Amino acid sequence: MDAGSSESPNMGSNKTIVWFRRDLRIEDNPALTAAARDGFVYPVYIWCPKEEGQFYPGRVSRWWLKQSLAHLKQSLKSLGADLVLMKTRSTIFSLLECINATGATKVAFNSLYDPNSLVRDHDIKEKLVELGISVHSYNADLLYEPWDVCDESGNAFTIFKEYWDKCLLLQKEFVSTLPPWKLRQAAGTVDNYSIEELGLEDESEKSSNALLARAWSPGWSNADKALAEFVENHLLEYAKNRQQLIGSSTSLLSPYLHFGEVSVCNIFQKVRMKQILWAREGNSVGEQSTNLFLRAIGFREYSRYICFNFPFTHERSLLSSLKFFPWHASQDNFKAWRQGRTGYPLVDAGMRELWASGWIHNRIRVIVSSFAVKVLLLPWKWGMKYFWDTLLDADLESDILGWQYISGSLPDGHELERLDDPQIQGSKFDPDGEYIRHWLPELARMPTEWIHHPWDAPQTVLQASGVELGLNYPRPVVELDLAVERLTEAIVKMREIEAAVGANSNGTNEVVMDNADGIQRLPTTNVVSVAKTCATNSSNDQKVPTIQNSKVNNPLSRKRSKALEERGEFHHNKNIPSEAGTSKSDEDLRSTAESSSSKKPTPTTSRTSFSVPQFCSSSKGQPQSSEENSDGGFNQG
Ligand SMILES: Cc1cc2nc3c(=O)[nH]c(=O)nc-3n(C[C@H](O)[C@H](O)[C@H](O)COP(=O)(O)OP(=O)(O)OC[C@H]3O[C@@H](n4cnc5c(N)ncnc54)[C@H](O)[C@@H]3O)c2cc1C
Repeated sequence: MDAGSSESPNMGSNKTIVWFRRDLRIEDNPALTAAARDGFVYPVYIWCPKEEGQFYPGRVSRWWLKQSLAHLKQSLKSLGADLVLMKTRSTIFSLLECINATGATKVAFNSLYDPNSLVRDHDIKEKLVELGISVHSYNADLLYEPWDVCDESGNAFTIFKEYWDKCLLLQKEFVSTLPPWKLRQAAGTVDNYSIEELGLEDESEKSSNALLARAWSPGWSNADKALAEFVENHLLEYAKNRQQLIGSSTSLLSPYLHFGEVSVCNIFQKVRMKQILWAREGNSVGEQSTNLFLRAIGFREYSRYICFNFPFTHERSLLSSLKFFPWHASQDNFKAWRQGRTGYPLVDAGMRELWASGWIHNRIRVIVSSFAVKVLLLPWKWGMKYFWDTLLDADLESDILGWQYISGSLPDGHELERLDDPQIQGSKFDPDGEYIRHWLPELARMPTEWIHHPWDAPQTVLQASGVELGLNYPRPVVELDLAVERLTEAIVKMREIEAAVGANSNGTNEVVMDNADGIQRLPTTNVVSVAKTCATNSSNDQKVPTIQNSKVNNPLSRKRSKALEERGEFHHNKNIPSEAGTSKSDEDLRSTAESSSSKKPTPTTSRTSFSVPQFCSSSKGQPQSSEENSDGGFNQG
């Protein structure tokens, strides 16, 4: 432990602006500790909606942020410093205002790795350094920083298992910094907003948000309590319970982790201690649980790793495999999905829970996202953005990783061809229909036998249950047989275009945006090797990815294409079908969270069976065990 207390006799007299972002905690906060040790501090949180762009946080995420800032402000006050809250149109402008007001010569903050922050922080550092301000950034969010982990050739891993095995091999010792017990406030006056004045919560949002406070307690000291409670009472059973859709089967730490209210080193240390204890006791259940939980923490690390090394992944799939996918950009289907009116009970229950509570279990995230991409053929970025708008733990990196995982965009994720049957998944993950009954009251009286496929239920059963298909509960928005057919056709079409473009491009793989693009036009970059990261000019801390020539071949897409050729799934055709692209405007995407009531008429025939095309690995009839499925090293479920 590093005693980072400000009572040290060597305490300096420098003045440092401590710029809080998503590190809303006192404990193990390296930027705050270093600044406190160095002298006077001026803690500031800068809210700049303009710079958030299309990734402006959604209602529930802003609610969390508001509570968490109030909590932090209180804690800092008890240590002797005020958290200054600023609302601005330019972060750098506000930082300069603080510097001018206090005469500070240093700025300290903890690093972030999402694409927007990487660019913004780099620019801000450059400008401050030019002005003679010393800038220090620290790692407070990760066990391993992205540039610390690479393969033997110095390249970034693209397979989770290889990445995580390497991390564990590094056997790094995690050192937490002790919180300062006292802070000395640097004097200076700027426009200090109240929490309300920041405008994180509209008047109209308050009533919807009121319920959230019953289920969640944001703030760093509540995060510590939630961690302790999980480690003491639920960690042991994590391996067994983590697939349960109802009850506290997982840690529920994700929103705390997103806002940096709990330190990942602290989590690692606490879980690792249990792991060692249970290993000594020969408690194999406990050992398995700790391994799986640490691996979940590893997924989060990996999400940052992927975003740093492949900083285009918020707008383009990692494998580039989807750039020619003929999406069905149907607003009606998108609305039905958002409203939980697809006619598939498990999907609808998940979407209703998401809308009502802002949180859903990982298994449900996989099910509803796969449904959107594979059954409705909706552009994956629409789904990603909707999750971003509605999740309490909305986290750009984890969201990107999740959507790429289910849409065939990761070498070790679900294959695009894989189409899971929601009916079978329902019987597997919600065998008694409890989850459905909780979130779909209109199906509450359906017998368990039919609850996951009401369209097959005899009329007498429907009548007795008060279910009128097409009236109070929809028929399936797309029949599954048709969905399999459409997915098959779409993949064939995608391969044809890929082949045609490949044949016409003299071996170069031009960067083409996904067909659903038009969403945003941030600068694109190509694969970045870990070894090629460059240090910023300010300090030895945060690095930024190198922007490379966008015409470089993507080795990942080559890897996947070769595998497909070997499986005979690669069709050569120089005719590029004209309906390959659809687009969606920035404006549309900003408002994906809005609710609406229009419905699409649905087919009425019921399905008893469907044949699986050669390369469509639907899991119908043979549900896969989540432990034994084809996810390779990266099993999110
Ligand atoms: C399509 C999709 C979108 C997702 N979007 C988000 C998101 O916006 N924000 C978010 O935090 N997670 C996201 N996830 C990952 C995962 O579903 C949540 O982290 C998890 O359900 C949070 O619950 P928990 O804290 O109880 O998890 P636990 O099982 O207790 O895991 C502990 C922690 O490990 C991390 N973790 C676990 N699983 C994953 C994973 N698959 N990917 C990344 N980190 C993981 C989380 O930080 C989590 O808090 C997404 C997954 C999918 C499939």
